[in-house]
Amino acid sequence: MIAKIHEFLEGMKDAGHTTPKKCYLCQPDQNTDTLIKLNNKLFKPYLKEEQILAAIEKMAVEIAEDYKDETPLFVGVLNGAFMFVADFLKAYQHPCQVSFVRLSSYQGLTSTGIVETLLDVQEDMEGKSVIILEDVVDTGRTLKQLVHLFSQTNVKEFKIAALFYKSEIYNGEYAIDYVGLEIPDNFIVGYGLDYNEMGRNLREVYQLNQADMINLVLFGKPGAGKGTQAGFLKEKYNLKHISTGDVFRYNIKNGTELGKLAKSYIDKGDLVPDEVTIDMLKDEVEKNPEASGFIFDGFPRTAAQAEALDNFLESKDMKVNATIALEADDEVLIARLLERGKSSGRSDDQDESKIRNRFDEYNEKTAPLKAYYEKQGKFHSVNGIGDIAEITERLGKVIDALD
Ligand code: AMP
Repeated sequence: MIAKIHEFLEGMKDAGHTTPKKCYLCQPDQNTDTLIKLNNKLFKPYLKEEQILAAIEKMAVEIAEDYKDETPLFVGVLNGAFMFVADFLKAYQHPCQVSFVRLSSYQGLTSTGIVETLLDVQEDMEGKSVIILEDVVDTGRTLKQLVHLFSQTNVKEFKIAALFYKSEIYNGEYAIDYVGLEIPDNFIVGYGLDYNEMGRNLREVYQLNQADMINLVLFGKPGAGKGTQAGFLKEKYNLKHISTGDVFRYNIKNGTELGKLAKSYIDKGDLVPDEVTIDMLKDEVEKNPEASGFIFDGFPRTAAQAEALDNFLESKDMKVNATIALEADDEVLIARLLERGKSSGRSDDQDESKIRNRFDEYNEKTAPLKAYYEKQGKFHSVNGIGDIAEITERLGKVIDALD
């Protein structure tokens, strides 16, 4: 029998599988430190199979203490929880029933994610104690939808059990009744969880390898060419471009609460308050967990934002690699902005007094960040006057020289 299994594993290797294949009957403890590649991204080992199973065992014991005298209905959240549900049920050896629900989260350029139900729970749940089995609870958006779904039923009781819980980013709206493992806010894959549908079959949990990430802050006054240059750099270095100005304008265009709030500030050329902008920025980063790095364009603009960005990135095992300023004279910039205002439709580009107010805001609140980043040895300056391609080349030289 063992020989047959080995023959099968060799066949898997020959078929070009990227995951290291090993025989768990012969080498149960052999956890390699090898990076694995899924859809061109590298992931490093994070949680061993034994750790995961021990956490599930602990949950099963806790839940049994509360429910062993009745027949609870466990509801697994597809697709991610399928492996968790299977192992959980093997650990929970008391009368129970099982069903599944499937939700899909839509990710767009919005400040709040929308989660839609694809499949309702089929069972008759009247009078039953329902325990949701979630693979991972992060921001809490999915949970909100689940609570909404079950609040419309006549269940006796409704509880939530999460195998992995990202307490740092959970909005705290509902209590999580049973937790397997509390984990930091890193992108994880394996044990049912996927990266673009790959990796669900891994027995262990891996996390995104952040070592190769480049995160850049593009610094400079309005009109310095940050947006234009970010457009080229994101292609060249495969980075996600986040322009806080663009996100605000998108929200204004779509009439969201965030847009309504930001509009009054933007129209006058004032900065939007820090709390709002920082939360929005974090949300944009969260929406792109698999990015190879970010270009922050128009953020940070105040000392509080710079500190919040450093703390936030550090909590995700990331950092700002460089802040690059595009330098240009005010008079050149005013001429550029007034020219752009003719076609962009941006009211803050069409009126010189608003432009000058934006410069005042910059001089007072943003310019001091130069010293903040110089202190960290991260500040670089590039001449922002000249041919667009020439400026991209200047920026590229700075980026290529980074460690
Ligand atoms: P921009 O497109 O970067 O020139 O931004 C346009 C406007 O959006 C600014 O004048 C501010 O009102 C607002 N805004 C953009 N980014 C920020 C930020 N980081 N902090 C505060 N307000 C911002």
